[in-house]
Amino acid sequence: MSYRTTNPATNEVEREFALVAEAEIETAIATADAEYRIWSARPLAERVSIIKRVAEIYRERRDELAEIISREMGKPIAFGRGEVGISADIFDYYANNAETFLEDEELTVASGGRALVRTAPIGVLLGIMPWNYPYYQVARFAAPNLLLGNTIILKHASNCPESAAAIAQIFEDAGLPAGAYINLYVSSRQVPAIIADDRVQGVSITGSEAAGRAVAEVAGRHLKKCVTELGGNDPYIVLSTDDLDGAVKGAVLGRMANGGQACNASKRAIVVDDLYDDFVEKYVARMAKMIPGDPLDNGTRFGPLASSGAVDELIEIIDDAVAKGATLHTGGKRIDRPGAWMEATVLTDVTPEMRAYHEEMFGPVGVIYRVDGEQAAIDLANDSPYGLGSSVTTTDPEQADRVANALETGMVVFDGPGDSEPDLPFGGVKASGIGRELARFGMEEFANKKLLRWR
Ligand code: NAP
Repeated sequence: MSYRTTNPATNEVEREFALVAEAEIETAIATADAEYRIWSARPLAERVSIIKRVAEIYRERRDELAEIISREMGKPIAFGRGEVGISADIFDYYANNAETFLEDEELTVASGGRALVRTAPIGVLLGIMPWNYPYYQVARFAAPNLLLGNTIILKHASNCPESAAAIAQIFEDAGLPAGAYINLYVSSRQVPAIIADDRVQGVSITGSEAAGRAVAEVAGRHLKKCVTELGGNDPYIVLSTDDLDGAVKGAVLGRMANGGQACNASKRAIVVDDLYDDFVEKYVARMAKMIPGDPLDNGTRFGPLASSGAVDELIEIIDDAVAKGATLHTGGKRIDRPGAWMEATVLTDVTPEMRAYHEEMFGPVGVIYRVDGEQAAIDLANDSPYGLGSSVTTTDPEQADRVANALETGMVVFDGPGDSEPDLPFGGVKASGIGRELARFGMEEFANKKLLRWR
Protein backbone atom coordinates (compact mmCIF):
# COMPACT_ATOMS: atom_id res chain seq x y z
CA MET A 1 0.00 0.00 0.00
CA SER A 2 1.31 3.44 -0.94
CA TYR A 3 0.10 6.82 -2.20
CA ARG A 4 0.13 6.97 -5.98
CA THR A 5 -0.68 9.31 -8.82
CA THR A 6 -2.21 7.03 -11.42
CA ASN A 7 -3.27 9.19 -14.34
CA PRO A 8 -6.82 8.02 -15.16
CA ALA A 9 -6.49 9.36 -18.71
CA THR A 10 -3.73 6.82 -19.41
CA ASN A 11 -3.70 4.38 -16.47
CA GLU A 12 -0.01 5.14 -16.01
CA VAL A 13 1.47 5.42 -12.53
CA GLU A 14 3.23 8.79 -12.57
CA ARG A 15 4.42 9.08 -8.99
CA GLU A 16 4.51 6.98 -5.88
CA PHE A 17 5.01 7.94 -2.23
CA ALA A 18 5.71 5.57 0.66
CA LEU A 19 3.47 5.42 3.70
CA VAL A 20 4.86 7.10 6.78
CA ALA A 21 6.43 4.98 9.52
CA GLU A 22 4.74 4.70 12.92
CA ALA A 23 7.41 6.93 14.46
CA GLU A 24 6.48 9.74 12.09
CA ILE A 25 2.86 9.50 13.17
CA GLU A 26 3.92 9.86 16.79
CA THR A 27 6.06 12.88 15.93
CA ALA A 28 3.21 14.45 13.96
CA ILE A 29 0.73 14.09 16.82
CA ALA A 30 3.22 15.45 19.34
CA THR A 31 4.06 18.40 17.08
CA ALA A 32 0.42 19.23 16.34
CA ASP A 33 -0.42 18.99 20.04
CA ALA A 34 2.44 21.26 21.09
CA GLU A 35 1.58 23.74 18.35
CA TYR A 36 -2.07 23.78 19.39
CA ARG A 37 -1.16 25.54 22.62
CA ILE A 38 0.77 28.22 20.73
CA TRP A 39 -1.51 28.60 17.69
CA SER A 40 -4.74 28.82 19.68
CA ALA A 41 -3.23 31.49 21.95
CA ARG A 42 -2.18 33.76 19.08
CA PRO A 43 -4.37 36.80 18.47
CA LEU A 44 -7.14 36.05 16.01
CA ALA A 45 -5.88 38.84 13.73
CA GLU A 46 -2.64 36.90 13.19
CA ARG A 47 -4.46 33.73 12.28
CA VAL A 48 -6.71 35.73 9.94
CA SER A 49 -3.76 37.29 8.16
CA ILE A 50 -2.12 33.90 7.51
CA ILE A 51 -5.36 32.40 6.20
CA LYS A 52 -5.86 35.41 3.90
CA ARG A 53 -2.42 34.75 2.51
CA VAL A 54 -3.42 31.09 1.98
CA ALA A 55 -6.31 32.29 -0.20
CA GLU A 56 -3.98 34.50 -2.22
CA ILE A 57 -1.51 31.70 -2.86
CA TYR A 58 -4.29 29.40 -4.08
CA ARG A 59 -5.16 32.05 -6.67
CA GLU A 60 -1.52 32.65 -7.62
CA ARG A 61 -0.99 28.90 -8.20
CA ARG A 62 -4.36 28.25 -9.81
CA ASP A 63 -3.06 26.75 -13.05
CA GLU A 64 -0.45 24.45 -11.55
CA LEU A 65 -2.87 23.26 -8.85
CA ALA A 66 -5.52 22.53 -11.48
CA GLU A 67 -3.03 20.59 -13.58
CA ILE A 68 -2.15 18.35 -10.63
CA ILE A 69 -5.71 17.17 -10.08
CA SER A 70 -6.27 16.66 -13.79
CA ARG A 71 -3.44 14.13 -13.70
CA GLU A 72 -4.42 12.66 -10.34
CA MET A 73 -8.14 12.17 -10.68
CA GLY A 74 -9.02 13.25 -14.24
CA LYS A 75 -10.78 16.55 -13.51
CA PRO A 76 -11.14 18.71 -16.65
CA ILE A 77 -8.65 21.54 -16.21
CA ALA A 78 -11.28 24.29 -16.50
CA PHE A 79 -13.18 22.76 -13.59
CA GLY A 80 -9.93 22.29 -11.68
CA ARG A 81 -9.32 26.02 -11.93
CA GLY A 82 -12.87 26.59 -10.69
CA GLU A 83 -12.23 24.30 -7.73
CA VAL A 84 -9.08 26.21 -6.82
CA GLY A 85 -11.15 29.42 -6.99
CA ILE A 86 -13.86 28.21 -4.62
CA SER A 87 -11.21 26.84 -2.25
CA ALA A 88 -9.60 30.29 -2.10
CA ASP A 89 -13.06 31.80 -1.57
CA ILE A 90 -13.64 29.49 1.41
CA PHE A 91 -10.39 30.60 3.06
CA ASP A 92 -11.32 34.24 2.42
CA TYR A 93 -14.86 33.75 3.66
CA TYR A 94 -13.75 32.35 7.01
CA ALA A 95 -10.93 34.88 7.36
CA ASN A 96 -13.42 37.71 6.75
CA ASN A 97 -16.06 36.32 9.12
CA ALA A 98 -14.02 34.68 11.88
CA GLU A 99 -14.26 37.64 14.22
CA THR A 100 -18.06 37.71 13.98
CA PHE A 101 -18.43 33.93 14.22
CA LEU A 102 -16.17 33.77 17.27
CA GLU A 103 -17.78 36.64 19.18
CA ASP A 104 -18.89 35.81 22.70
CA GLU A 105 -22.62 35.19 22.96
CA GLU A 106 -24.25 36.88 25.95
CA LEU A 107 -27.04 34.80 27.50
CA THR A 108 -30.18 35.91 29.28
CA VAL A 109 -30.24 34.10 32.62
CA ALA A 110 -33.56 33.55 34.38
CA SER A 111 -31.97 33.61 37.84
CA GLY A 112 -30.06 36.81 37.06
CA GLY A 113 -26.40 37.64 36.75
CA ARG A 114 -24.19 37.47 33.71
CA ALA A 115 -23.33 34.48 31.52
CA LEU A 116 -21.90 34.05 28.08
CA VAL A 117 -20.80 31.32 25.72
CA ARG A 118 -17.35 31.56 24.22
CA THR A 119 -16.51 29.57 21.08
CA ALA A 120 -13.14 28.00 21.86
CA PRO A 121 -10.99 25.46 20.03
CA ILE A 122 -10.59 21.87 21.25
CA GLY A 123 -7.16 20.75 20.02
CA VAL A 124 -5.68 18.45 17.40
CA LEU A 125 -8.08 17.19 14.72
CA LEU A 126 -7.68 14.45 12.15
CA GLY A 127 -9.11 15.19 8.69
CA ILE A 128 -9.72 12.32 6.25
CA MET A 129 -10.50 13.51 2.75
CA PRO A 130 -11.68 12.08 -0.60
CA TRP A 131 -10.28 12.51 -4.08
CA ASN A 132 -13.29 13.99 -5.88
CA TYR A 133 -12.64 17.64 -4.92
CA PRO A 134 -9.12 17.41 -3.51
CA TYR A 135 -8.70 21.13 -2.70
CA TYR A 136 -12.26 22.12 -1.86
CA GLN A 137 -12.83 19.29 0.62
CA VAL A 138 -9.71 20.19 2.59
CA ALA A 139 -10.54 23.91 2.46
CA ARG A 140 -13.97 23.54 4.02
CA PHE A 141 -12.50 21.56 6.93
CA ALA A 142 -9.19 23.39 7.38
CA ALA A 143 -10.26 27.04 7.01
CA PRO A 144 -12.74 27.25 9.91
CA ASN A 145 -10.73 25.02 12.19
CA LEU A 146 -7.39 26.77 11.75
CA LEU A 147 -9.08 30.13 12.36
CA LEU A 148 -10.79 28.75 15.45
CA GLY A 149 -7.38 27.70 16.77
CA ASN A 150 -7.45 23.93 16.26
CA THR A 151 -4.50 22.19 14.61
CA ILE A 152 -4.81 19.58 11.90
CA ILE A 153 -3.34 16.26 10.82
CA LEU A 154 -4.56 15.50 7.30
CA LYS A 155 -4.94 12.13 5.65
CA HIS A 156 -5.81 12.71 2.02
CA ALA A 157 -7.06 10.04 -0.39
CA SER A 158 -4.29 7.68 -1.43
CA ASN A 159 -4.72 8.66 -5.11
CA CYS A 160 -4.15 12.36 -4.32
CA PRO A 161 -0.62 12.58 -2.94
CA GLU A 162 0.49 15.49 -5.11
CA SER A 163 -2.46 17.74 -4.36
CA ALA A 164 -2.09 16.79 -0.69
CA ALA A 165 1.54 17.92 -0.79
CA ALA A 166 0.66 21.09 -2.71
CA ILE A 167 -1.89 22.05 -0.04
CA ALA A 168 0.67 21.55 2.76
CA GLN A 169 3.15 23.65 0.78
CA ILE A 170 0.63 26.50 0.49
CA PHE A 171 0.14 26.55 4.26
CA GLU A 172 3.88 26.56 4.81
CA ASP A 173 4.45 29.34 2.28
CA ALA A 174 1.65 31.41 3.83
CA GLY A 175 3.49 31.35 7.15
CA LEU A 176 1.39 28.79 9.00
CA PRO A 177 3.52 27.19 11.74
CA ALA A 178 4.69 23.69 10.80
CA GLY A 179 2.65 21.92 13.47
CA ALA A 180 -0.66 23.62 12.68
CA TYR A 181 -1.25 21.57 9.52
CA ILE A 182 0.55 18.28 8.92
CA ASN A 183 -0.01 16.20 5.81
CA LEU A 184 0.56 12.49 6.48
CA TYR A 185 0.57 9.64 3.98
CA VAL A 186 -1.10 7.14 6.31
CA SER A 187 -3.18 4.13 5.33
CA SER A 188 -6.72 3.68 6.60
CA ARG A 189 -5.34 0.88 8.79
CA GLN A 190 -3.22 3.45 10.64
CA VAL A 191 -6.19 5.74 11.24
CA PRO A 192 -7.77 4.07 14.34
CA ALA A 193 -4.59 4.52 16.41
CA ILE A 194 -4.51 8.24 15.54
CA ILE A 195 -8.16 8.71 16.52
CA ALA A 196 -7.56 6.78 19.74
CA ASP A 197 -4.59 8.91 20.77
CA ASP A 198 -5.47 11.06 23.81
CA ARG A 199 -3.95 14.14 22.18
CA VAL A 200 -6.37 13.96 19.22
CA GLN A 201 -9.76 15.55 20.03
CA GLY A 202 -11.82 14.95 16.90
CA VAL A 203 -12.03 13.55 13.40
CA SER A 204 -13.76 14.73 10.26
CA ILE A 205 -14.20 12.36 7.35
CA THR A 206 -15.59 13.08 3.91
CA GLY A 207 -15.96 9.91 1.92
CA SER A 208 -18.04 6.82 1.40
CA GLU A 209 -20.62 5.48 3.82
CA ALA A 210 -18.40 2.47 4.59
CA ALA A 211 -15.42 4.65 5.48
CA GLY A 212 -17.66 6.95 7.53
CA ARG A 213 -19.05 4.06 9.53
CA ALA A 214 -15.55 2.65 10.19
CA VAL A 215 -14.23 6.01 11.37
CA ALA A 216 -17.32 6.93 13.42
CA GLU A 217 -17.16 3.55 15.19
CA VAL A 218 -13.60 4.17 16.35
CA ALA A 219 -14.40 7.79 17.25
CA GLY A 220 -17.41 6.67 19.27
CA ARG A 221 -15.40 4.07 21.15
CA HIS A 222 -12.89 6.73 22.14
CA LEU A 223 -15.47 9.48 22.75
CA LYS A 224 -14.09 11.76 20.08
CA LYS A 225 -16.19 14.33 18.26
CA CYS A 226 -16.78 13.16 14.71
CA VAL A 227 -18.15 14.83 11.57
CA THR A 228 -19.10 12.52 8.70
CA GLU A 229 -19.82 13.91 5.22
CA LEU A 230 -20.73 10.80 3.25
CA GLY A 231 -22.45 9.56 0.12
CA GLY A 232 -25.72 10.63 -1.42
CA ASN A 233 -28.33 9.55 -3.93
CA ASP A 234 -29.94 12.93 -4.44
CA PRO A 235 -33.39 13.17 -6.05
CA TYR A 236 -34.12 15.80 -8.69
CA ILE A 237 -37.90 16.05 -8.54
CA VAL A 238 -39.85 17.64 -11.39
CA LEU A 239 -43.54 18.21 -10.60
CA SER A 240 -44.46 21.10 -12.91
CA THR A 241 -42.55 23.59 -15.00
CA ASP A 242 -42.96 26.27 -17.66
CA ASP A 243 -39.47 25.49 -18.88
CA LEU A 244 -38.91 21.80 -19.44
CA ASP A 245 -35.67 22.42 -21.35
CA GLY A 246 -34.33 24.36 -18.38
CA ALA A 247 -35.40 21.61 -15.98
CA VAL A 248 -33.68 18.95 -18.10
CA LYS A 249 -30.56 21.06 -18.50
CA GLY A 250 -30.40 21.47 -14.71
CA ALA A 251 -30.88 17.75 -14.15
CA VAL A 252 -28.09 16.83 -16.57
CA LEU A 253 -25.79 19.50 -15.18
CA GLY A 254 -26.50 18.25 -11.68
CA ARG A 255 -25.88 14.66 -12.68
CA MET A 256 -22.74 15.25 -14.72
CA ALA A 257 -20.80 17.80 -12.63
CA ASN A 258 -17.34 16.38 -11.94
CA GLY A 259 -18.05 13.48 -14.29
CA GLY A 260 -20.91 12.45 -12.02
CA GLN A 261 -18.50 12.03 -9.11
CA ALA A 262 -20.11 14.44 -6.66
CA CYS A 263 -21.73 13.46 -3.40
CA ASN A 264 -24.66 15.82 -4.03
CA ALA A 265 -25.04 15.04 -7.75
CA SER A 266 -28.63 14.76 -9.00
CA LYS A 267 -28.40 10.98 -9.27
CA ARG A 268 -32.13 10.22 -9.48
CA ALA A 269 -34.46 12.28 -11.65
CA ILE A 270 -38.05 11.80 -10.45
CA VAL A 271 -40.59 13.14 -12.94
CA VAL A 272 -44.40 13.27 -12.97
CA ASP A 273 -46.33 11.31 -15.60
CA ASP A 274 -47.36 14.18 -17.87
CA LEU A 275 -43.79 15.50 -18.25
CA TYR A 276 -42.01 12.14 -18.16
CA ASP A 277 -41.78 11.15 -21.85
CA ASP A 278 -40.58 14.57 -23.01
CA PHE A 279 -38.19 14.80 -20.08
CA VAL A 280 -36.63 11.41 -20.89
CA GLU A 281 -36.25 12.26 -24.57
CA LYS A 282 -34.53 15.58 -23.86
CA TYR A 283 -32.38 14.17 -21.03
CA VAL A 284 -31.17 11.26 -23.16
CA ALA A 285 -30.40 13.60 -26.08
CA ARG A 286 -28.21 15.76 -23.85
CA MET A 287 -26.43 12.81 -22.22
CA ALA A 288 -25.77 11.12 -25.56
CA LYS A 289 -23.87 14.23 -26.68
CA MET A 290 -21.50 14.06 -23.72
CA ILE A 291 -18.32 12.52 -25.04
CA PRO A 292 -15.40 12.40 -22.62
CA GLY A 293 -12.20 14.20 -23.62
CA ASP A 294 -8.65 14.90 -22.49
CA PRO A 295 -8.84 16.49 -19.02
CA LEU A 296 -5.87 18.74 -19.82
CA ASP A 297 -7.69 20.26 -22.79
CA ASN A 298 -9.23 23.64 -21.90
CA GLY A 299 -12.47 22.84 -23.73
CA THR A 300 -13.16 19.51 -21.98
CA ARG A 301 -16.21 19.39 -19.71
CA PHE A 302 -16.31 15.62 -19.09
CA GLY A 303 -13.13 13.63 -18.61
CA PRO A 304 -12.20 10.13 -17.53
CA LEU A 305 -13.43 8.81 -14.18
CA ALA A 306 -10.96 8.87 -11.30
CA SER A 307 -9.91 5.23 -11.64
CA SER A 308 -10.39 2.17 -13.75
CA GLY A 309 -11.87 0.40 -10.73
CA ALA A 310 -14.59 3.05 -10.54
CA VAL A 311 -15.60 2.27 -14.13
CA ASP A 312 -15.74 -1.47 -13.37
CA GLU A 313 -17.99 -0.86 -10.35
CA LEU A 314 -20.43 1.25 -12.34
CA ILE A 315 -20.60 -1.17 -15.24
CA GLU A 316 -21.45 -3.97 -12.79
CA ILE A 317 -24.36 -1.97 -11.38
CA ILE A 318 -25.61 -1.04 -14.87
CA ASP A 319 -25.35 -4.66 -16.08
CA ASP A 320 -27.25 -5.85 -13.01
CA ALA A 321 -30.03 -3.34 -13.74
CA VAL A 322 -30.27 -4.22 -17.43
CA ALA A 323 -30.27 -7.96 -16.67
CA LYS A 324 -33.24 -7.38 -14.33
CA GLY A 325 -35.26 -5.38 -16.86
CA ALA A 326 -34.07 -1.77 -16.76
CA THR A 327 -34.07 0.16 -20.05
CA LEU A 328 -30.68 1.42 -21.21
CA HIS A 329 -31.22 4.54 -23.36
CA THR A 330 -27.63 5.49 -24.05
CA GLY A 331 -24.12 4.57 -22.92
CA GLY A 332 -23.62 1.71 -20.49
CA LYS A 333 -20.14 0.73 -21.61
CA ARG A 334 -16.48 1.27 -20.87
CA ILE A 335 -14.72 3.08 -23.71
CA ASP A 336 -12.10 0.89 -25.28
CA ARG A 337 -8.87 2.77 -24.66
CA PRO A 338 -6.31 2.77 -21.82
CA GLY A 339 -7.57 4.66 -18.80
CA ALA A 340 -10.78 5.10 -16.84
CA TRP A 341 -13.10 6.06 -19.70
CA MET A 342 -16.80 5.43 -19.73
CA GLU A 343 -19.85 6.54 -21.67
CA ALA A 344 -22.49 8.85 -20.21
CA THR A 345 -25.40 6.56 -19.44
CA VAL A 346 -29.15 6.82 -18.87
CA LEU A 347 -31.36 4.15 -17.30
CA THR A 348 -35.12 4.04 -16.78
CA ASP A 349 -37.46 1.34 -15.42
CA VAL A 350 -35.16 0.81 -12.44
CA THR A 351 -36.88 -1.16 -9.65
CA PRO A 352 -36.02 -2.02 -6.02
CA GLU A 353 -34.68 -5.46 -7.05
CA MET A 354 -31.77 -3.72 -8.77
CA ARG A 355 -28.58 -2.41 -7.17
CA ALA A 356 -29.05 0.79 -9.19
CA TYR A 357 -32.13 1.60 -7.11
CA HIS A 358 -30.35 1.61 -3.74
CA GLU A 359 -26.68 2.26 -4.37
CA GLU A 360 -24.89 5.51 -4.98
CA MET A 361 -23.64 5.49 -8.58
CA PHE A 362 -20.52 7.62 -8.43
CA GLY A 363 -20.12 8.46 -12.10
CA PRO A 364 -21.93 9.53 -15.29
CA VAL A 365 -25.12 7.49 -14.89
CA GLY A 366 -28.51 9.17 -14.74
CA VAL A 367 -31.59 7.25 -13.62
CA ILE A 368 -35.05 8.63 -14.39
CA TYR A 369 -38.16 7.48 -12.51
CA ARG A 370 -41.81 8.07 -13.45
CA VAL A 371 -44.24 8.96 -10.63
CA ASP A 372 -47.95 9.80 -10.58
CA GLY A 373 -47.78 12.88 -8.36
CA GLU A 374 -46.36 14.76 -5.40
CA GLN A 375 -46.74 12.08 -2.73
CA ALA A 376 -45.27 9.35 -4.92
CA ALA A 377 -42.32 11.63 -5.69
CA ILE A 378 -41.72 12.25 -1.98
CA ASP A 379 -42.04 8.55 -1.12
CA LEU A 380 -39.59 7.54 -3.84
CA ALA A 381 -37.14 10.31 -2.94
CA ASN A 382 -37.16 9.25 0.72
CA ASP A 383 -36.85 5.54 -0.12
CA SER A 384 -33.08 5.73 0.15
CA PRO A 385 -30.59 5.11 2.92
CA TYR A 386 -29.09 8.49 2.02
CA GLY A 387 -30.29 12.00 2.81
CA LEU A 388 -27.79 14.51 1.50
CA GLY A 389 -29.31 16.98 -0.99
CA SER A 390 -32.42 17.21 -3.16
CA SER A 391 -33.89 19.42 -5.88
CA VAL A 392 -37.51 20.34 -6.45
CA THR A 393 -38.96 21.95 -9.58
CA THR A 394 -42.55 23.16 -9.39
CA THR A 395 -44.48 26.27 -10.41
CA ASP A 396 -46.50 26.11 -7.16
CA PRO A 397 -44.71 27.81 -4.21
CA GLU A 398 -46.92 26.10 -1.62
CA GLN A 399 -46.15 22.72 -3.10
CA ALA A 400 -42.44 23.60 -3.07
CA ASP A 401 -42.61 24.33 0.64
CA ARG A 402 -44.63 21.18 1.39
CA VAL A 403 -42.25 18.93 -0.52
CA ALA A 404 -39.21 20.58 1.07
CA ASN A 405 -40.65 19.83 4.52
CA ALA A 406 -41.31 16.20 3.62
CA LEU A 407 -37.90 15.44 2.13
CA GLU A 408 -35.48 13.64 4.45
CA THR A 409 -32.39 15.50 3.26
CA GLY A 410 -29.97 18.05 4.65
CA MET A 411 -30.40 20.39 1.69
CA VAL A 412 -33.28 21.27 -0.67
CA VAL A 413 -32.64 23.37 -3.77
CA PHE A 414 -35.53 24.78 -5.83
CA ASP A 415 -35.52 24.99 -9.62
CA GLY A 416 -32.00 23.70 -10.19
CA PRO A 417 -29.32 21.28 -9.07
CA GLY A 418 -27.36 21.34 -5.81
CA ASP A 419 -24.04 23.11 -5.59
CA SER A 420 -21.84 24.48 -2.83
CA GLU A 421 -21.03 28.02 -1.70
CA PRO A 422 -18.81 29.14 1.19
CA ASP A 423 -21.65 30.87 3.04
CA LEU A 424 -24.24 28.06 2.79
CA PRO A 425 -24.20 25.02 5.07
CA PHE A 426 -23.46 21.64 3.49
CA GLY A 427 -24.31 18.23 4.93
CA GLY A 428 -26.89 15.50 5.21
CA VAL A 429 -28.94 13.18 7.38
CA LYS A 430 -29.40 9.37 7.48
CA ALA A 431 -26.47 7.49 5.91
CA SER A 432 -25.18 10.74 4.35
CA GLY A 433 -23.60 11.53 7.67
CA ILE A 434 -23.62 13.74 10.72
CA GLY A 435 -22.77 17.42 10.98
CA ARG A 436 -22.40 20.42 8.70
CA GLU A 437 -19.57 22.14 6.94
CA LEU A 438 -19.33 25.69 5.57
CA ALA A 439 -21.11 28.88 6.71
CA ARG A 440 -20.99 29.59 10.44
CA PHE A 441 -22.12 26.03 11.15
CA GLY A 442 -18.80 24.69 9.87
CA MET A 443 -16.99 26.64 12.55
CA GLU A 444 -19.04 25.19 15.37
CA GLU A 445 -18.49 21.47 14.88
CA PHE A 446 -15.08 21.24 16.56
CA ALA A 447 -15.62 24.06 19.04
CA ASN A 448 -15.88 23.99 22.79
CA LYS A 449 -18.96 26.10 23.51
CA LYS A 450 -17.54 27.24 26.83
CA LEU A 451 -19.84 28.75 29.45
CA LEU A 452 -18.54 31.70 31.44
CA ARG A 453 -20.81 32.52 34.40
CA TRP A 454 -20.57 35.36 36.87
CA ARG A 455 -22.40 35.14 40.20
P1 NAP B 1 -13.61 6.62 0.29
O1 NAP B 1 -13.08 5.46 -0.44
O2 NAP B 1 -14.47 6.39 1.46
O3 NAP B 1 -12.30 7.46 0.74
C1 NAP B 1 -12.42 8.69 1.41
C2 NAP B 1 -11.27 8.81 2.38
O4 NAP B 1 -11.48 7.89 3.44
C3 NAP B 1 -9.91 8.47 1.77
O5 NAP B 1 -8.93 9.28 2.36
C4 NAP B 1 -9.75 7.01 2.19
O6 NAP B 1 -8.42 6.60 2.24
C5 NAP B 1 -10.35 7.05 3.57
N1 NAP B 1 -10.81 5.76 4.07
C6 NAP B 1 -11.42 4.76 3.38
N2 NAP B 1 -11.74 3.75 4.22
C7 NAP B 1 -11.32 4.12 5.45
C8 NAP B 1 -11.34 3.49 6.73
N3 NAP B 1 -11.88 2.29 6.91
N4 NAP B 1 -10.79 4.14 7.77
C9 NAP B 1 -10.25 5.36 7.61
N5 NAP B 1 -10.19 6.01 6.44
C10 NAP B 1 -10.72 5.39 5.36
O7 NAP B 1 -14.39 7.62 -0.63
P2 NAP B 1 -13.95 8.19 -2.04
O8 NAP B 1 -14.14 7.12 -3.03
O9 NAP B 1 -12.62 8.84 -1.93
O10 NAP B 1 -15.02 9.36 -2.23
C11 NAP B 1 -16.27 9.13 -2.75
C12 NAP B 1 -17.32 9.09 -1.67
O11 NAP B 1 -17.25 10.28 -0.89
C13 NAP B 1 -18.71 9.06 -2.25
O12 NAP B 1 -19.52 8.20 -1.52
C14 NAP B 1 -19.17 10.51 -2.09
O13 NAP B 1 -20.55 10.68 -2.11
C15 NAP B 1 -18.54 10.86 -0.79
N6 NAP B 1 -18.42 12.33 -0.64
C16 NAP B 1 -19.22 12.96 0.26
C17 NAP B 1 -19.18 14.34 0.40
C18 NAP B 1 -20.08 15.06 1.37
O14 NAP B 1 -19.84 16.23 1.65
N7 NAP B 1 -21.13 14.45 1.89
C19 NAP B 1 -18.29 15.07 -0.39
C20 NAP B 1 -17.49 14.38 -1.30
C21 NAP B 1 -17.55 13.01 -1.41
P3 NAP B 1 -7.72 5.76 1.04
O15 NAP B 1 -7.75 6.64 -0.15
O16 NAP B 1 -6.38 5.53 1.57
O17 NAP B 1 -8.55 4.53 0.87
